[in-house]
Amino acid sequence: MISFEYLTPKSLKEAQADLNKHGTDAKVIAGGTALVIMMKQRLVRPACLISLRSVRGINEIALKDGGLRLGGLATHREVETSVLVRRRWPLLAETYRHVATVRVRNMATVGGGLAHADPNQDPPPSLMVLGARIKASSVSGTREIPIDEFFTDYYETSLRPEEIITEVFVPNPAANSGAAFLKFLPRSADDYATVSAAAVLTMDRSKKTFADARIALGSVGTTPIRAREAEALLVGQPVKAEALREAAEKAKQLVDPVSDFRGSAAYKKEMAGVFVRRALEKALDNLEEKTRASKSRQTSKRRKK
Ligand SMILES: Cc1cc2nc3c(=O)[nH]c(=O)nc-3n(C[C@H](O)[C@H](O)[C@H](O)COP(=O)(O)OP(=O)(O)OC[C@H]3O[C@@H](n4cnc5c(N)ncnc54)[C@H](O)[C@@H]3O)c2cc1C
Repeated sequence: MISFEYLTPKSLKEAQADLNKHGTDAKVIAGGTALVIMMKQRLVRPACLISLRSVRGINEIALKDGGLRLGGLATHREVETSVLVRRRWPLLAETYRHVATVRVRNMATVGGGLAHADPNQDPPPSLMVLGARIKASSVSGTREIPIDEFFTDYYETSLRPEEIITEVFVPNPAANSGAAFLKFLPRSADDYATVSAAAVLTMDRSKKTFADARIALGSVGTTPIRAREAEALLVGQPVKAEALREAAEKAKQLVDPVSDFRGSAAYKKEMAGVFVRRALEKALDNLEEKTRASKSRQTSKRRKK
């Protein structure tokens, strides 16, 4: 391993000042699960590491302004096990649960995962369908980046070198919506996905047509992919299995995977269609389940009165 300076700021202001001072010679380190491997492989050689581990105030998971605030330093395991996330954003808890092993999830952080921008990661497709926004902060101020504009290329993001991800904001889920995330793992349970798909379906009030649809995929391109043209095939359409199949077929045409040891490009493309269809079907099942549960709660409330 190359030698480097190691700084341990205690506040965000201090971390921002350190990053500003050392410029592109420095890198922040959070869980270290990706960065340490990249340093060992000499893919990156920072002269200075700025640890975020002691920075206070950027690891909470809390309700905020009509949504959920995930601190940049919250670990994957904290998102997975948070009672609040499980109850209100079960898609997120389920997605983070699929990342690697408990050991990795105990270290890897929300901000570190996003900044790393490996297109095979699990959280990005789910955060995309939930309309997440990333808060990036530096000595010059703070800005919000919609997640759809965050990933720019293979391991590349729109984050500036001096910026730190302090928060990911996830809006409240729409009423009458159901969501699902599926990870296709033909090798081992702790591997990265061969293909992953996340979907959110929202019904109109009559529950007969789709008012909105969101679909995103992982591991099938240089970045996670939002399948907007596939979504457009569902919006305003009657709730029918045929519509889900057509949207999945369109999503398949929008991906551009590479062949690797997890499968050939042609196989991944085929699986993208299969897993989008299954994710859409599961999102619909989850919505119907939610509706049934809510009706039965209302009935029992009325009986008690
Ligand atoms: C064996 C193994 C298997 C894995 N399997 C999966 C998997 O199946 N699915 C999956 O989704 N993930 C998986 N991961 C995790 C994932 O790939 C990353 O390692 C992890 O999300 C990085 O988080 P971290 O906090 O450790 O980041 P770090 O390693 O600390 O940092 C990663 C990068 O982000 C930057 N960074 C860190 N925090 C911030 C911040 N707050 N603001 C700005 N930049 C920041 C660093 O400078 C660095 O460039 C796996 C990891 C390992 C080691």
